[in-house]
Amino acid sequence: MVKRRSLKVAVIGAGVAGLTAARSLLSEGHHVTVFEKSRHVGGTWVYDERVESDPTGLDPARSRVHGSLYHSLRTNLPRPLMGFSDYPFPDGPPSGAFPSHDEVLSFIKGFALDFGLLEWVRFGSEVVSVGPGPRADEWVVEALEAAEKKVVVEAFEAVVVCNGHYSEPMVADVPGIDKWPGKQIHSHNYRVPEPFRDQTVVLIGSSASAYDISREISVVAKEVHLSSRSADEEFSKVEGQSNIWQHSSISCVDEDRMVAFHDGSSIRADVIFYCTGYKYSFPFLKTNGFISVEDNRVGPLYQHVFPPKLSPSISFVGLPQRVIPFLTIDLQSKWVAQVLSSKAMLPPEEEMMASIKALYMQMETTGTPKHHTHRLHPYELDYMNWLAAQVGVPPLDKWKEQMHLALIQGYKSKTNAYRDNYDNEYWNRLGLSEAGL
Ligand code: FAD
Repeated sequence: MVKRRSLKVAVIGAGVAGLTAARSLLSEGHHVTVFEKSRHVGGTWVYDERVESDPTGLDPARSRVHGSLYHSLRTNLPRPLMGFSDYPFPDGPPSGAFPSHDEVLSFIKGFALDFGLLEWVRFGSEVVSVGPGPRADEWVVEALEAAEKKVVVEAFEAVVVCNGHYSEPMVADVPGIDKWPGKQIHSHNYRVPEPFRDQTVVLIGSSASAYDISREISVVAKEVHLSSRSADEEFSKVEGQSNIWQHSSISCVDEDRMVAFHDGSSIRADVIFYCTGYKYSFPFLKTNGFISVEDNRVGPLYQHVFPPKLSPSISFVGLPQRVIPFLTIDLQSKWVAQVLSSKAMLPPEEEMMASIKALYMQMETTGTPKHHTHRLHPYELDYMNWLAAQVGVPPLDKWKEQMHLALIQGYKSKTNAYRDNYDNEYWNRLGLSEAGL
């Protein structure tokens, strides 16, 4: 029988991933320090009305804001998919099946309190460097302590990276943009619709945020023109909307504020609005090239968590996208904690590398772009159930799987106001609730 290890572990970030990692690490008997640069737990879910000095988020010298929430945001997953398997999200009202961001933050704060996690968090402590220490299997963490304005240096046996990945905007390549005299903004810096009153806005993207924001600004804007890379998007009026149009991708823009689309249409716009996602960024990592971010692929990572060469002493929780985030983060956290304590074992380095290469090869064969490496749909449920098997917990409840799949069908059919249509009654009718199955 393998002897259990209890390690001194640094966790970077006190968002959902960092808190969940801390909870799992503590329950496996590890010693935990969570570094959190802000004064709060909750990360993404702390609404911040400030925006950055460069609304596109491109200027590296811009003032920084971590949060990307807009004021009216409600989740795009219903309550049962926003909690943990043993710590469910409370039932609504006030805002029906899809809670508001305030409710999510309250839930996270409650989680941190109920599991006694706050005492392990060093608030106002920003990790500025993580590098190998003088001893093998030791990491030196340097953190800038805001209150004392000094850098504190400490060695750890393991580091879990949970710094979030919705803060570094990624914008689309728009031919001619250098000459474009209109305004530009990334959704990271969107809070309320009022600045778009009477404006003609071209909004690039087809994600959940693009869907929500386009509907919200259309109430005050003159016109909203959606632009999407998907081949099937041709110029058309969006059903049920008086001032929203769908176009293909942009072919070019010019100095007269004209925006031309590959579908042959063109309009004169005031604003180009990027809902084009975010970049993974780990400015503090000094891993001698063993982990890199190339075209938004963080790698090499075994199952999106462990870099084979540095396993298991460094790991990443929360990277996958197009998943059920809280439940996935919970399973990844358990896996990391168990691997560190030797309760769960990783395969040998060569086997992990072979698995990563097989994934990359499969992506190439299917023409999946590199920057979608951590987008797990349509394999997200398989991934979660694989993790569950690693850590010896039951697979995801069938009714939750079905709820998730029903929701994806809903997004795909672009149902207007899905949050209102798919309220609690809808799930009960389908028999998709804890009581129903
Ligand atoms: P974060 O919440 O970003 O937390 C990272 C933490 O790390 C922050 O507190 C930050 O201050 C800290 N940090 C960063 N760098 C350092 C450093 N160097 N030193 C110390 N601390 C550091 N998920 C859902 O499940 N449902 C939804 O409906 C949903 N909607 C979303 C809508 C938007 C607009 C966005 C942006 C995301 C949404 N998500 C949603 C995804 C959401 O981000 C994840 O659910 C989850 O909150 C991610 O948690 P995290 O801990 O990985 O990152």
